[in-house]
Amino acid sequence: MEIEQIRFVVFLGIFLLMLILESFIQRHPTVDSKKTRLTINLALTGIDILAVRLVFGAAAVAAAKFAGENGWGLFNYLDWPEWIEIIAVIIFLDLMIYIQHILVHVIPFFWQFHVVHHSDLDLDVSSGLRFHPIEILGSMLFKMGLVFALGPSTLAVVIFEGILNGMALFSHSNIILPEKLDRILRFVVVTPDMHRIHHSIEKMETNANFGFNLSIWDRFLGTYIQEAKKEQPEIILGVDQFRTSEELSLKNLLLMPFKAIPKNYSLFPGND
Ligand SMILES: [Zn+2]
Ligand SMILES: [Zn+2]
Repeated sequence: MEIEQIRFVVFLGIFLLMLILESFIQRHPTVDSKKTRLTINLALTGIDILAVRLVFGAAAVAAAKFAGENGWGLFNYLDWPEWIEIIAVIIFLDLMIYIQHILVHVIPFFWQFHVVHHSDLDLDVSSGLRFHPIEILGSMLFKMGLVFALGPSTLAVVIFEGILNGMALFSHSNIILPEKLDRILRFVVVTPDMHRIHHSIEKMETNANFGFNLSIWDRFLGTYIQEAKKEQPEIILGVDQFRTSEELSLKNLLLMPFKAIPKNYSLFPGND
């Protein structure tokens, strides 16, 4: 099996596992139809995959190969053992994705696209895939820029992408973990309870817990919230501009960035 195929199988495995777990150990009550949301989020994912394929091909991984062959990037000058390079690349890319996430909240133009992700009225494994295709293309471009600057090994990028995808499924899933396990995991990684706070309708809570893989960036850089104001099952999810499933059809999600300019979640003071 090619590494890309392995990645896909692992991805599908985690997706199905979370989907099954959600029906047994559900954490948060739902307000919208799961079937409808699943269909919409997966349709959006299909469009995202097509968009990336059309515009970039194999994108970040191809960029890593190209940078390697042409001797571009920092790591092509450093002669580090591969496993150290892989760990360094994963940690550095994770920090960059954390910063990117803050930027898409801070800059109103980017928020117009990111709001599609936050508009989900419930949160489950499929929410981890719910992004506007233009946001996906934008973050692909950002990652490719990083890859050109870093020149990491192809393997490091494949592993990072795999972890990022897998963790997005885990951290969005609607599953309950034993409190102790959640606390222990949270020292290092983002758990579903931690990320659910980021999807709260409360502005203060939306603008916290930006991490995707490692929870350390939020802790170190002061954007960490341990508990929401409400108990976990009572947290109201989504954004206040869109409260009905009619507003959240596939078509409306695709058009959302061009219609609504919901700036009021921006971190910029004075935009309230
Ligand atoms: Zn966000
Ligand atoms: Zn999210």
